[in-house]
Amino acid sequence: MAGLSKKRRHKLSYKIGASFLTMMVAIELGLFISLYLLVFNTYVKQEVDNLVVRGDNYARVLAVDFSSSMVRHSVLAGVDNSTAMVVQNASNQTTLDSSQTVTSEMRQHIQEFQKSNSNTSQSLHTHLFRDDYIVSMSPVKSDGKVIGRIYMFLDTHHIRQILFDFTGIFAVLALLTIFLTVLSAFYISRFITRPLLLIKNGAQKIALGDLSLALNINSQDELSDLATAIENLASNLNTMKKSRNEFLASVAHELRTPLTFIKGYADIAARPSSSDAQKAEYLIIIREETDRLSALTDDLMTLAQLEENEFKIRKASVIVSKIIEQAVSKMSPILAQKNIQIALSGNSDFVAALDETRIEQVLVNLLMNAYKYSFEKSTITLSISSDDNLFHIKIADNGEGIPDEELTHIFERFYRVDKSRSRKTGGAGLGLAIVQDIIKLHGGTISVQSKIGSGTSFEITLPYE
Ligand code: ADP
Repeated sequence: MAGLSKKRRHKLSYKIGASFLTMMVAIELGLFISLYLLVFNTYVKQEVDNLVVRGDNYARVLAVDFSSSMVRHSVLAGVDNSTAMVVQNASNQTTLDSSQTVTSEMRQHIQEFQKSNSNTSQSLHTHLFRDDYIVSMSPVKSDGKVIGRIYMFLDTHHIRQILFDFTGIFAVLALLTIFLTVLSAFYISRFITRPLLLIKNGAQKIALGDLSLALNINSQDELSDLATAIENLASNLNTMKKSRNEFLASVAHELRTPLTFIKGYADIAARPSSSDAQKAEYLIIIREETDRLSALTDDLMTLAQLEENEFKIRKASVIVSKIIEQAVSKMSPILAQKNIQIALSGNSDFVAALDETRIEQVLVNLLMNAYKYSFEKSTITLSISSDDNLFHIKIADNGEGIPDEELTHIFERFYRVDKSRSRKTGGAGLGLAIVQDIIKLHGGTISVQSKIGSGTSFEITLPYE
Protein backbone atom coordinates (compact mmCIF):
# COMPACT_ATOMS: atom_id res chain seq x y z
CA MET A 1 0.00 0.00 0.00
CA ALA A 2 2.85 2.34 0.96
CA GLY A 3 4.67 1.31 -2.20
CA LEU A 4 1.58 2.08 -4.27
CA SER A 5 1.13 5.54 -2.81
CA LYS A 6 4.83 6.28 -3.35
CA LYS A 7 4.45 5.19 -6.94
CA ARG A 8 1.41 7.46 -7.33
CA ARG A 9 3.18 10.34 -5.65
CA HIS A 10 5.86 10.27 -8.30
CA LYS A 11 3.51 9.86 -11.17
CA LEU A 12 3.24 13.55 -11.97
CA SER A 13 6.95 14.27 -11.63
CA TYR A 14 7.61 11.16 -13.72
CA LYS A 15 5.22 12.37 -16.43
CA ILE A 16 6.66 15.89 -16.50
CA GLY A 17 10.23 14.57 -16.43
CA ALA A 18 9.61 11.97 -19.15
CA SER A 19 7.85 14.44 -21.48
CA PHE A 20 10.56 17.05 -21.00
CA LEU A 21 13.29 14.46 -21.52
CA THR A 22 11.73 12.99 -24.66
CA MET A 23 11.22 16.42 -26.17
CA MET A 24 14.69 17.68 -25.33
CA VAL A 25 16.47 14.50 -26.47
CA ALA A 26 14.54 14.56 -29.78
CA ILE A 27 15.50 18.21 -30.35
CA GLU A 28 19.11 17.62 -29.36
CA LEU A 29 19.45 14.53 -31.54
CA GLY A 30 17.94 16.40 -34.50
CA LEU A 31 20.36 19.27 -34.00
CA PHE A 32 23.36 16.98 -33.51
CA ILE A 33 22.59 14.92 -36.61
CA SER A 34 22.07 18.06 -38.76
CA LEU A 35 25.26 19.61 -37.45
CA TYR A 36 27.17 16.39 -37.91
CA LEU A 37 26.02 16.01 -41.53
CA LEU A 38 26.76 19.67 -42.24
CA VAL A 39 30.30 19.48 -40.86
CA PHE A 40 30.88 16.11 -42.52
CA ASN A 41 29.73 17.27 -45.98
CA THR A 42 31.59 20.58 -45.74
CA TYR A 43 34.79 18.80 -44.79
CA VAL A 44 34.54 16.24 -47.61
CA LYS A 45 33.66 18.98 -50.14
CA GLN A 46 36.64 21.02 -49.02
CA GLU A 47 38.96 18.03 -49.43
CA VAL A 48 37.59 17.38 -52.93
CA ASP A 49 37.94 21.07 -53.89
CA ASN A 50 41.50 21.09 -52.56
CA LEU A 51 42.30 18.05 -54.67
CA VAL A 52 40.96 19.72 -57.81
CA VAL A 53 42.91 22.92 -57.04
CA ARG A 54 46.11 20.97 -56.54
CA GLY A 55 45.61 19.11 -59.85
CA ASP A 56 44.82 22.41 -61.61
CA ASN A 57 47.99 24.01 -60.23
CA TYR A 58 50.17 21.25 -61.67
CA ALA A 59 48.17 21.32 -64.89
CA ARG A 60 49.12 24.99 -65.26
CA VAL A 61 52.80 24.18 -64.59
CA LEU A 62 52.76 21.32 -67.10
CA ALA A 63 50.97 23.45 -69.67
CA VAL A 64 54.17 25.46 -69.90
CA ASP A 65 56.51 22.52 -69.95
CA PHE A 66 55.11 19.06 -70.67
CA SER A 67 58.49 17.40 -70.83
CA SER A 68 58.97 14.05 -69.12
CA SER A 69 61.38 15.57 -66.57
CA MET A 70 58.83 18.25 -65.64
CA VAL A 71 56.13 15.61 -65.43
CA ARG A 72 58.38 13.55 -63.16
CA HIS A 73 59.15 16.57 -61.06
CA SER A 74 55.44 17.46 -60.69
CA VAL A 75 54.48 13.89 -59.81
CA LEU A 76 57.09 13.81 -57.05
CA ALA A 77 56.26 17.28 -55.72
CA GLY A 78 52.47 17.03 -56.02
CA VAL A 79 51.77 14.15 -53.63
CA ASP A 80 51.95 13.37 -49.96
CA ASN A 81 51.07 10.36 -47.77
CA SER A 82 47.38 10.49 -48.54
CA THR A 83 47.44 11.46 -52.23
CA ALA A 84 48.63 9.94 -55.48
CA MET A 85 49.04 11.48 -58.92
CA VAL A 86 48.88 10.05 -62.44
CA VAL A 87 49.75 12.08 -65.56
CA GLN A 88 48.51 10.87 -68.93
CA ASN A 89 49.07 11.88 -72.46
CA ALA A 90 45.84 13.24 -74.02
CA SER A 91 46.39 11.96 -77.53
CA ASN A 92 46.69 8.22 -76.86
CA GLN A 93 45.69 8.30 -73.17
CA THR A 94 48.78 6.49 -72.00
CA THR A 95 50.30 7.00 -68.62
CA LEU A 96 53.37 9.21 -68.76
CA ASP A 97 54.19 9.02 -65.08
CA SER A 98 52.64 8.28 -61.69
CA SER A 99 53.56 8.71 -58.05
CA GLN A 100 52.83 5.07 -57.28
CA THR A 101 51.84 1.86 -59.01
CA VAL A 102 48.45 2.38 -60.67
CA THR A 103 46.05 -0.10 -59.02
CA SER A 104 43.10 -1.64 -60.84
CA GLU A 105 40.75 0.60 -58.87
CA MET A 106 42.73 3.70 -59.94
CA ARG A 107 42.60 2.47 -63.52
CA GLN A 108 38.86 2.02 -63.32
CA HIS A 109 38.43 5.62 -62.12
CA ILE A 110 40.69 6.92 -64.91
CA GLN A 111 38.62 5.00 -67.44
CA GLU A 112 35.45 6.65 -66.17
CA PHE A 113 37.02 10.07 -66.84
CA GLN A 114 38.28 8.89 -70.25
CA LYS A 115 34.72 7.88 -71.20
CA SER A 116 33.45 11.38 -70.58
CA ASN A 117 36.51 12.80 -72.40
CA SER A 118 36.01 16.10 -70.62
CA ASN A 119 38.12 19.21 -71.27
CA THR A 120 37.42 20.83 -67.88
CA SER A 121 38.56 20.06 -64.38
CA GLN A 122 36.24 17.82 -62.43
CA SER A 123 36.02 15.43 -59.55
CA LEU A 124 34.54 12.02 -59.48
CA HIS A 125 31.76 11.38 -57.00
CA THR A 126 32.98 8.35 -55.24
CA HIS A 127 31.54 6.47 -52.31
CA LEU A 128 33.53 7.49 -49.28
CA PHE A 129 33.13 4.19 -47.44
CA ARG A 130 33.21 1.81 -50.41
CA ASP A 131 35.94 3.23 -52.67
CA ASP A 132 39.57 3.68 -51.74
CA TYR A 133 39.94 7.05 -53.50
CA ILE A 134 38.36 10.35 -54.20
CA VAL A 135 39.53 11.28 -57.71
CA SER A 136 39.89 14.53 -59.64
CA MET A 137 40.95 15.22 -63.19
CA SER A 138 42.63 18.44 -64.40
CA PRO A 139 43.34 18.88 -68.14
CA VAL A 140 46.76 20.20 -69.19
CA LYS A 141 46.03 22.70 -71.95
CA SER A 142 48.45 24.27 -74.35
CA ASP A 143 47.08 26.81 -76.84
CA GLY A 144 43.57 25.81 -75.88
CA LYS A 145 44.25 22.20 -76.79
CA VAL A 146 44.24 19.42 -74.21
CA ILE A 147 47.68 17.81 -74.30
CA GLY A 148 47.52 15.82 -71.14
CA ARG A 149 45.51 15.01 -68.03
CA ILE A 150 46.43 14.97 -64.39
CA TYR A 151 44.54 12.53 -62.15
CA MET A 152 44.76 13.21 -58.43
CA PHE A 153 43.80 10.44 -55.96
CA LEU A 154 42.97 11.21 -52.36
CA ASP A 155 43.07 8.22 -50.05
CA THR A 156 39.61 7.81 -48.43
CA HIS A 157 41.15 5.94 -45.47
CA HIS A 158 42.65 9.20 -44.40
CA ILE A 159 39.28 11.03 -44.62
CA ARG A 160 37.57 8.14 -42.93
CA GLN A 161 40.05 8.29 -40.06
CA ILE A 162 39.46 12.01 -39.58
CA LEU A 163 35.69 11.50 -39.76
CA PHE A 164 35.95 8.68 -37.27
CA ASP A 165 37.81 10.91 -34.77
CA PHE A 166 35.32 13.64 -35.44
CA THR A 167 32.36 11.27 -34.91
CA GLY A 168 33.89 10.19 -31.61
CA ILE A 169 34.04 13.80 -30.37
CA PHE A 170 30.44 14.33 -31.52
CA ALA A 171 29.28 11.18 -29.76
CA VAL A 172 30.96 12.22 -26.49
CA LEU A 173 29.41 15.69 -26.76
CA ALA A 174 25.98 14.18 -27.54
CA LEU A 175 26.21 11.81 -24.56
CA LEU A 176 27.28 14.65 -22.29
CA THR A 177 24.38 16.82 -23.50
CA ILE A 178 21.89 13.99 -22.99
CA PHE A 179 23.29 13.37 -19.52
CA LEU A 180 22.86 17.06 -18.67
CA THR A 181 19.34 16.95 -20.14
CA VAL A 182 18.44 13.97 -17.93
CA LEU A 183 19.73 15.87 -14.90
CA SER A 184 17.72 18.99 -15.83
CA ALA A 185 14.59 16.90 -16.53
CA PHE A 186 14.96 15.35 -13.09
CA TYR A 187 15.53 18.72 -11.43
CA ILE A 188 12.70 20.50 -13.30
CA SER A 189 10.17 17.75 -12.60
CA ARG A 190 11.13 17.86 -8.92
CA PHE A 191 11.07 21.65 -8.90
CA ILE A 192 7.56 21.79 -10.42
CA THR A 193 6.03 18.95 -8.47
CA ARG A 194 7.50 19.79 -5.06
CA PRO A 195 5.00 22.61 -4.36
CA LEU A 196 2.21 20.40 -5.74
CA LEU A 197 3.18 17.65 -3.32
CA LEU A 198 3.26 20.19 -0.47
CA ILE A 199 -0.20 21.41 -1.47
CA LYS A 200 -1.52 17.86 -1.70
CA ASN A 201 -0.11 17.00 1.73
CA GLY A 202 -1.60 20.23 3.08
CA ALA A 203 -5.03 19.34 1.67
CA GLN A 204 -4.74 15.91 3.29
CA LYS A 205 -3.94 17.58 6.62
CA ILE A 206 -7.01 19.81 6.25
CA ALA A 207 -9.10 16.71 5.58
CA LEU A 208 -7.75 15.23 8.82
CA GLY A 209 -8.76 18.39 10.70
CA ASP A 210 -5.42 20.18 11.01
CA LEU A 211 -6.45 23.73 10.10
CA SER A 212 -3.32 25.57 11.30
CA LEU A 213 -1.79 25.14 7.89
CA ALA A 214 1.27 27.01 6.54
CA LEU A 215 2.43 25.75 3.14
CA ASN A 216 5.24 28.33 2.75
CA ILE A 217 5.29 28.36 -1.05
CA ASN A 218 6.70 31.68 -2.21
CA SER A 219 7.25 30.97 -5.88
CA GLN A 220 5.16 34.02 -6.95
CA ASP A 221 3.28 32.02 -9.58
CA GLU A 222 -0.03 30.18 -10.00
CA LEU A 223 1.10 27.48 -7.58
CA SER A 224 1.80 29.97 -4.82
CA ASP A 225 -1.65 31.50 -5.56
CA LEU A 226 -3.18 28.05 -5.18
CA ALA A 227 -1.24 27.49 -1.94
CA THR A 228 -2.45 30.85 -0.59
CA ALA A 229 -6.04 29.99 -1.58
CA ILE A 230 -5.75 26.69 0.32
CA GLU A 231 -4.21 28.42 3.33
CA ASN A 232 -7.10 30.92 3.30
CA LEU A 233 -9.56 28.06 3.00
CA ALA A 234 -8.02 26.37 6.04
CA SER A 235 -8.02 29.62 7.99
CA ASN A 236 -11.68 30.29 7.05
CA LEU A 237 -12.60 26.78 8.07
CA ASN A 238 -10.77 27.37 11.32
CA THR A 239 -12.68 30.60 11.93
CA MET A 240 -15.95 28.88 11.07
CA LYS A 241 -15.12 26.01 13.40
CA LYS A 242 -14.31 28.44 16.21
CA SER A 243 -17.44 30.53 15.64
CA ARG A 244 -19.56 27.36 15.51
CA ASN A 245 -18.11 26.29 18.85
CA GLU A 246 -18.69 29.76 20.29
CA PHE A 247 -22.22 29.71 18.91
CA LEU A 248 -22.93 26.34 20.50
CA ALA A 249 -21.47 27.54 23.80
CA SER A 250 -23.68 30.66 23.66
CA VAL A 251 -26.76 28.60 22.82
CA ALA A 252 -26.02 26.24 25.70
CA HIS A 253 -25.54 29.21 28.01
CA GLU A 254 -28.72 30.94 26.87
CA LEU A 255 -30.70 27.74 27.35
CA ARG A 256 -29.19 26.96 30.71
CA THR A 257 -30.16 30.25 32.36
CA PRO A 258 -33.96 30.03 31.92
CA LEU A 259 -33.83 26.30 32.60
CA THR A 260 -32.04 26.95 35.92
CA PHE A 261 -34.73 29.47 36.85
CA ILE A 262 -37.53 27.11 35.86
CA LYS A 263 -36.05 24.19 37.81
CA GLY A 264 -35.21 26.38 40.81
CA TYR A 265 -38.69 27.90 41.08
CA ALA A 266 -40.39 24.58 40.35
CA ASP A 267 -38.39 23.01 43.23
CA ILE A 268 -39.35 25.81 45.64
CA ALA A 269 -42.98 25.69 44.51
CA ALA A 270 -43.03 21.96 45.18
CA ARG A 271 -42.03 22.45 48.80
CA PRO A 272 -44.98 21.91 51.23
CA SER A 273 -43.91 25.04 53.09
CA SER A 274 -44.68 27.28 50.04
CA SER A 275 -47.92 29.17 50.36
CA ASP A 276 -50.45 29.37 47.50
CA ALA A 277 -49.56 33.02 46.92
CA GLN A 278 -45.85 32.14 46.64
CA LYS A 279 -46.67 29.25 44.32
CA ALA A 280 -48.65 31.60 42.07
CA GLU A 281 -45.75 34.04 42.00
CA TYR A 282 -43.26 31.25 41.15
CA LEU A 283 -45.53 29.98 38.41
CA ILE A 284 -45.55 33.45 36.84
CA ILE A 285 -41.74 33.45 36.85
CA ILE A 286 -41.69 29.94 35.41
CA ARG A 287 -44.08 31.05 32.70
CA GLU A 288 -41.95 34.12 31.85
CA GLU A 289 -38.85 31.94 31.60
CA THR A 290 -40.73 29.46 29.40
CA ASP A 291 -41.78 32.34 27.14
CA ARG A 292 -38.17 33.43 26.95
CA LEU A 293 -37.12 29.87 26.06
CA SER A 294 -39.67 29.56 23.29
CA ALA A 295 -38.73 32.99 21.87
CA LEU A 296 -35.10 31.90 21.94
CA THR A 297 -35.83 28.61 20.18
CA ASP A 298 -37.89 30.50 17.55
CA ASP A 299 -34.93 32.82 16.92
CA LEU A 300 -32.54 29.88 16.76
CA MET A 301 -34.76 28.10 14.26
CA THR A 302 -34.89 31.21 12.09
CA LEU A 303 -31.11 31.62 12.28
CA ALA A 304 -30.50 27.95 11.50
CA GLN A 305 -32.70 28.27 8.40
CA LEU A 306 -30.87 31.43 7.38
CA GLU A 307 -27.49 29.71 7.73
CA GLU A 308 -28.59 26.66 5.78
CA ASN A 309 -30.01 28.86 3.02
CA GLU A 310 -33.35 27.23 3.68
CA PHE A 311 -34.82 30.53 4.69
CA LYS A 312 -36.74 31.37 1.57
CA ILE A 313 -37.57 34.95 0.75
CA ARG A 314 -40.81 34.99 -1.19
CA LYS A 315 -40.91 38.38 -2.81
CA ALA A 316 -44.19 39.76 -4.05
CA SER A 317 -45.32 43.24 -5.07
CA VAL A 318 -46.68 44.89 -1.98
CA ILE A 319 -47.54 48.44 -0.94
CA VAL A 320 -44.91 49.42 1.62
CA SER A 321 -47.35 51.50 3.72
CA LYS A 322 -49.39 48.32 4.27
CA ILE A 323 -46.44 46.52 5.90
CA ILE A 324 -45.64 49.56 8.02
CA GLU A 325 -49.25 49.84 9.23
CA GLN A 326 -49.31 46.14 10.14
CA ALA A 327 -46.06 46.37 12.13
CA VAL A 328 -47.16 49.53 13.92
CA SER A 329 -50.58 48.13 14.83
CA LYS A 330 -48.92 44.94 16.14
CA MET A 331 -46.65 47.04 18.35
CA SER A 332 -49.30 49.52 19.55
CA PRO A 333 -50.51 47.62 22.64
CA ILE A 334 -46.92 47.01 23.74
CA LEU A 335 -45.88 50.64 23.17
CA ALA A 336 -48.92 51.74 25.18
CA GLN A 337 -47.45 50.02 28.25
CA LYS A 338 -44.71 52.67 28.36
CA ASN A 339 -46.84 55.44 26.89
CA ILE A 340 -44.61 55.61 23.87
CA GLN A 341 -45.89 57.34 20.71
CA ILE A 342 -44.96 56.52 17.14
CA ALA A 343 -44.46 59.45 14.76
CA LEU A 344 -44.78 58.43 11.10
CA SER A 345 -43.38 60.65 8.39
CA GLY A 346 -42.79 60.37 4.64
CA ASN A 347 -44.84 58.76 1.92
CA SER A 348 -44.81 54.97 1.77
CA ASP A 349 -47.63 54.52 -0.74
CA PHE A 350 -45.49 52.84 -3.32
CA VAL A 351 -45.05 49.28 -4.45
CA ALA A 352 -41.90 47.21 -3.84
CA ALA A 353 -41.02 43.52 -4.27
CA LEU A 354 -40.68 42.29 -0.69
CA ASP A 355 -41.36 39.30 1.50
CA GLU A 356 -44.19 40.89 3.46
CA THR A 357 -43.96 38.64 6.53
CA ARG A 358 -40.18 38.94 6.82
CA ILE A 359 -40.05 42.72 6.39
CA GLU A 360 -42.83 43.05 8.95
CA GLN A 361 -40.72 40.86 11.28
CA VAL A 362 -37.76 43.23 10.71
CA LEU A 363 -39.86 46.31 11.53
CA VAL A 364 -41.36 44.69 14.62
CA ASN A 365 -37.86 43.65 15.82
CA LEU A 366 -36.52 47.20 15.37
CA LEU A 367 -39.61 48.79 16.97
CA MET A 368 -39.38 46.30 19.82
CA ASN A 369 -35.74 47.24 20.41
CA ALA A 370 -36.62 50.94 20.26
CA TYR A 371 -39.39 50.25 22.78
CA LYS A 372 -37.14 48.17 25.06
CA TYR A 373 -34.40 50.79 25.25
CA SER A 374 -36.66 53.92 25.28
CA PHE A 375 -37.83 55.78 28.30
CA GLU A 376 -41.49 56.13 29.28
CA LYS A 377 -43.58 58.68 27.39
CA SER A 378 -40.98 59.11 24.67
CA THR A 379 -41.53 59.07 20.91
CA ILE A 380 -40.26 56.67 18.26
CA THR A 381 -39.98 58.17 14.76
CA LEU A 382 -40.54 56.01 11.70
CA SER A 383 -39.68 57.93 8.54
CA ILE A 384 -39.72 56.83 4.91
CA SER A 385 -37.84 58.40 2.04
CA SER A 386 -37.25 57.21 -1.50
CA ASP A 387 -34.71 57.61 -4.35
CA ASP A 388 -34.88 56.43 -7.94
CA ASN A 389 -33.90 52.83 -7.24
CA LEU A 390 -33.94 52.56 -3.45
CA PHE A 391 -36.13 53.48 -0.53
CA HIS A 392 -35.18 54.00 3.12
CA ILE A 393 -37.01 53.24 6.35
CA LYS A 394 -35.58 54.89 9.44
CA ILE A 395 -36.59 53.94 12.98
CA ALA A 396 -35.23 56.37 15.57
CA ASP A 397 -35.73 56.47 19.34
CA ASN A 398 -34.74 58.83 22.14
CA GLY A 399 -33.62 55.96 24.36
CA GLU A 400 -30.45 55.20 26.21
CA GLY A 401 -28.30 54.74 23.09
CA ILE A 402 -25.39 52.40 22.36
CA PRO A 403 -21.71 53.16 23.13
CA ASP A 404 -19.62 53.83 20.00
CA GLU A 405 -17.28 50.88 20.54
CA GLU A 406 -20.26 48.48 20.66
CA LEU A 407 -21.92 49.70 17.47
CA THR A 408 -19.91 47.45 15.14
CA HIS A 409 -20.83 44.36 17.15
CA ILE A 410 -24.55 44.70 17.68
CA PHE A 411 -25.40 42.73 14.51
CA GLU A 412 -23.39 39.73 15.71
CA ARG A 413 -25.21 36.72 17.05
CA PHE A 414 -25.69 36.70 20.83
CA TYR A 415 -24.15 40.14 21.13
CA ARG A 416 -25.72 42.25 23.85
CA VAL A 417 -24.45 45.62 24.91
CA ASP A 418 -25.25 45.28 28.55
CA LYS A 419 -25.70 41.68 29.54
CA SER A 420 -27.61 42.41 32.76
CA ARG A 421 -29.80 44.98 31.02
CA SER A 422 -30.78 42.44 28.39
CA ARG A 423 -31.70 39.82 30.94
CA LYS A 424 -34.12 42.35 32.27
CA THR A 425 -35.40 43.26 28.82
CA GLY A 426 -35.48 39.64 27.70
CA GLY A 427 -33.31 39.58 24.55
CA ALA A 428 -30.64 37.00 23.73
CA GLY A 429 -28.82 39.18 21.20
CA LEU A 430 -30.17 37.37 18.14
CA GLY A 431 -32.76 39.92 16.90
CA LEU A 432 -30.44 42.23 14.95
CA ALA A 433 -28.52 39.29 13.44
CA ILE A 434 -31.80 38.01 12.02
CA VAL A 435 -32.82 41.50 10.86
CA GLN A 436 -29.54 41.95 9.00
CA ASP A 437 -29.77 38.53 7.32
CA ILE A 438 -33.32 39.22 6.10
CA ILE A 439 -32.37 42.64 4.73
CA LYS A 440 -29.31 41.16 2.98
CA LEU A 441 -31.49 38.46 1.40
CA HIS A 442 -33.60 41.28 -0.03
CA GLY A 443 -30.46 42.86 -1.53
CA GLY A 444 -30.58 45.74 0.96
CA THR A 445 -28.44 47.15 3.77
CA ILE A 446 -28.95 48.22 7.37
CA SER A 447 -26.96 50.85 9.24
CA VAL A 448 -27.04 52.24 12.75
CA GLN A 449 -26.28 55.56 14.40
CA SER A 450 -26.41 56.09 18.11
CA LYS A 451 -25.48 58.47 20.88
CA ILE A 452 -25.46 57.55 24.55
CA GLY A 453 -28.33 59.30 26.29
CA SER A 454 -29.81 60.73 23.05
CA GLY A 455 -31.04 57.67 21.24
CA THR A 456 -30.47 55.27 18.40
CA SER A 457 -31.59 55.18 14.79
CA PHE A 458 -31.55 52.23 12.42
CA GLU A 459 -31.84 52.85 8.69
CA ILE A 460 -32.87 50.14 6.26
CA THR A 461 -32.21 50.68 2.56
CA LEU A 462 -34.02 48.40 0.12
CA PRO A 463 -34.36 48.16 -3.65
CA TYR A 464 -37.85 48.38 -5.20
CA GLU A 465 -37.29 45.18 -7.15
P1 ADP B 1 -31.68 41.73 21.92
O1 ADP B 1 -32.66 40.67 21.64
O2 ADP B 1 -30.81 41.44 23.10
O3 ADP B 1 -32.28 43.08 21.93
P2 ADP B 1 -30.57 42.46 19.41
O4 ADP B 1 -29.74 41.67 18.48
O5 ADP B 1 -31.91 42.89 18.93
O6 ADP B 1 -30.67 41.63 20.75
O7 ADP B 1 -29.74 43.71 19.84
C1 ADP B 1 -28.41 43.57 20.24
C2 ADP B 1 -28.04 44.61 21.28
O8 ADP B 1 -28.06 45.90 20.68
C3 ADP B 1 -29.03 44.69 22.39
O9 ADP B 1 -28.65 43.85 23.44
C4 ADP B 1 -28.97 46.13 22.83
O10 ADP B 1 -27.99 46.28 23.81
C5 ADP B 1 -28.54 46.88 21.60
N1 ADP B 1 -29.66 47.60 20.95
C6 ADP B 1 -30.41 47.22 19.92
N2 ADP B 1 -31.33 48.14 19.59
C7 ADP B 1 -31.14 49.15 20.45
C8 ADP B 1 -31.76 50.43 20.64
N3 ADP B 1 -32.75 50.82 19.83
N4 ADP B 1 -31.31 51.22 21.63
C9 ADP B 1 -30.32 50.80 22.41
N5 ADP B 1 -29.67 49.63 22.32
C10 ADP B 1 -30.08 48.81 21.34
